Amino acid sequence: MEYKGVLVYAEQRNQQIHKVTYELLDKGRQLADQLGVQVYCALLGPADIDAQELIYRGADVVYYIEDNEAFNEPDELVYARNLQDLIVKIKPEICISGATSLGRSVAPRVAAAIGAGLTADCTDLQIDEDRKLIQIRPAFSENILAHIKSECMPQMATVRYKEFSEAKRDISRTGEIIKSSSLDYQNDAMVFIQELSQKKLDISEASVVVSAGTGLRSPEDFKLLSELADLLNGVVAASRPLVEGGFISKDHQVGYSGNRVKPKIYIACGISGAPQHLAGMKDSETIIAINTDPSAPIFSIADHGIVGDLYEVVPLLINKIKSM
Ligand code: FAD
Repeated sequence: MEYKGVLVYAEQRNQQIHKVTYELLDKGRQLADQLGVQVYCALLGPADIDAQELIYRGADVVYYIEDNEAFNEPDELVYARNLQDLIVKIKPEICISGATSLGRSVAPRVAAAIGAGLTADCTDLQIDEDRKLIQIRPAFSENILAHIKSECMPQMATVRYKEFSEAKRDISRTGEIIKSSSLDYQNDAMVFIQELSQKKLDISEASVVVSAGTGLRSPEDFKLLSELADLLNGVVAASRPLVEGGFISKDHQVGYSGNRVKPKIYIACGISGAPQHLAGMKDSETIIAINTDPSAPIFSIADHGIVGDLYEVVPLLINKIKSM
């Protein structure tokens, strides 16, 4: 059987389909139409997920591996093992997943297990004249765009969240939903994805992000930024040095090697604006920067800049909001 079709890994969290899936479906549909093949979706999760929605958004066939027990815990090894098994069975020529924390963990495991290559964190995908997938991603600290082709089948890529537009919903679309249950797979290592990042904190979804850099002197000082974030119904985030310094967990990191965010308001407190940080937040609708150094690069992309000490400016902002 030859490799044919485009497989989109439909990520779900708490039985809700992650929006990155709709972005992948939009791109996946374009690629499939160019190749004249079908779009498959792999949906792995408990019962009662709205698989039909994937068809409305562009899938032709949804393989719904439905298992309350197996997917009760967000165990990435169980997801990887099931996805691997599906890929071996249906042999798609292209497999795309979101570059989310789950996708970044599952896709490389599958690629390694089936001996395929994987291009991580793509920002675009195209088809060349030989019907090969061109996987485009920034390289050398975002300074160039690498165009990568894989010699192996399937051609696998993870794609950054919020890079493509979501597939439009078309309720006249029809397709097939094929249900099965999870493989009987026991994960001895029991590596769990922290529910925290899925339930309480998803900085990629927040409409306000209050982010700290090394201008913040101690982990306790996050209380100050949390107070501001809470008043604005937002979340706190950080630059990489704070994550590496143990101030806050990795799921709060914004940037090239962290999360990409696109909130309505991004407040950068004591962040210099290194390219690797900007890579994760430059598309925010409004950027407010607070920095003691008027020549800090963050001011070149900020919509509003405040030259000042965050320990003075943030309390002033808090008091102002409280008095409104
Ligand atoms: P600094 O550059 O030290 O800036 C601190 C700023 O705070 C300064 O501008 C200073 O003027 C200001 N300041 C100091 N005190 C105060 C105060 N009291 N009030 C107000 N302002 C004050 N970085 C990321 O953030 N995310 C990533 O994902 C990431 N990935 C990377 C990947 C690679 C491969 C590499 C090589 C680097 C990566 N980095 C990443 C690191 C990046 O290059 C920078 O080192 C980092 O972003 C700097 O963090 P910062 O702005 O908090 O610190």
